[in-house]
Amino acid sequence: MKARAYATTAATQPLAPFTVDRRDVGPNDVLIEIIASGICHSDIHQARSEWGPAKYPMVPGHEIVGKVTQVGANVKRLKVGDMAGVGCMVDSCRTCHPCAHGDEQFCEKTPAWTYNGTEMDRTTPTYGGYSTHIVVTEHFVVKVPAGLDPFAAAPVLCAGVTTFSPLQEWGCKKGDQVAVVGLGGLGHMAVKLAAAMGAEVTLLSTSLSKQADAKRLGAANFELSTDKATFRKLARRFDLIIDTVSAEHDYNAYLNLLRPRGAMVVVGVPPKPSPVAAFSLIGGNRRLAGSSIGNMKQTQDVLDFCAQHQFGADVEVIKAGDINVAYERMVKNDVKYRFVIDAKTF
Ligand code: NAP
Ligand code: ZN
Ligand code: ZN
Repeated sequence: MKARAYATTAATQPLAPFTVDRRDVGPNDVLIEIIASGICHSDIHQARSEWGPAKYPMVPGHEIVGKVTQVGANVKRLKVGDMAGVGCMVDSCRTCHPCAHGDEQFCEKTPAWTYNGTEMDRTTPTYGGYSTHIVVTEHFVVKVPAGLDPFAAAPVLCAGVTTFSPLQEWGCKKGDQVAVVGLGGLGHMAVKLAAAMGAEVTLLSTSLSKQADAKRLGAANFELSTDKATFRKLARRFDLIIDTVSAEHDYNAYLNLLRPRGAMVVVGVPPKPSPVAAFSLIGGNRRLAGSSIGNMKQTQDVLDFCAQHQFGADVEVIKAGDINVAYERMVKNDVKYRFVIDAKTF
């Protein structure tokens, strides 16, 4: 079927209306009529080839929520009328060691990324969620629980799972001191999730204007990362730091805020590498780690967790024609806290 979409044709081109051919619904496939499509900073990084040469034309979008309108004969978990979600992957090999252990995002053959990638045949390009419809194999479709608004739920498919997964993996629990660095799409989900897990959350931000929001979202404390005194005051404070910053910054300064054996998990992807001094890690047996999105189970788990705690993302719903303006605003750090495209406007 033909689906309306928005695409970019080159790193320097704006996004514009485009038509995607979605495949026929196969026996294991789910057809989703998209309702809401979030804009992740990774969409901008890739649309502009900031992570190396990208595949064009590109239809970005990996925070997708919509209604199931058709299912293949073998599909068991989903039925027509269900609210469904699709995140950063649409397939993987299913047989390699990570796939067999439920870590589809680490598929040794490389997952079929939702866009800027290919299906597992390695020739058919994938086109993402800035579109009216998408066809995805059942294993990579999650259920959006009743009670979650589709627009607030969409960002959970990437921003939510990307911050939920390290909080879970590093054992975030009641009473922990957790710092979140950067209050954007990922950061605001990290604050909500860590607070709901019972941690005392401190937001480290470059934007004083976000102080009241940080508290409203669940942070007990707000500190300015542009003030050197902050790093003296908070030295050796945290069990866990979730770093969501998309631009260059000094990891060493943040590592020093960890308690002995504390961990800093990098999820933001600054375009350039950042040097780390051995003594930043050695003093206090500190750990510096990374985390990539989450697996399919964690994607379902974070949606269920959000439904249980009755929150989604804080979103600004936009029309498809405003995607380019939204990109510019996001680069200027002017988003509270996720743009979500109304798919009716594609
Ligand atoms: P975003 O909404 O643009 O938020 C990024 C935040 O970083 C900003 O709100 C800002 O927070 C802070 N920031 C921006 N420029 C800064 C600077 N020069 N110095 C210090 N802080 C700065 O982006 P996002 O969608 O949350 O994505 C964040 C990053 O995570 C991106 O690099 C994205 O590609 C990456 N990502 C990674 C994964 C993964 O699997 N690991 C998944 C999704 C996204 P303050 O105003 O509070 O300082
Ligand atoms: Zn993303
Ligand atoms: Zn695999």
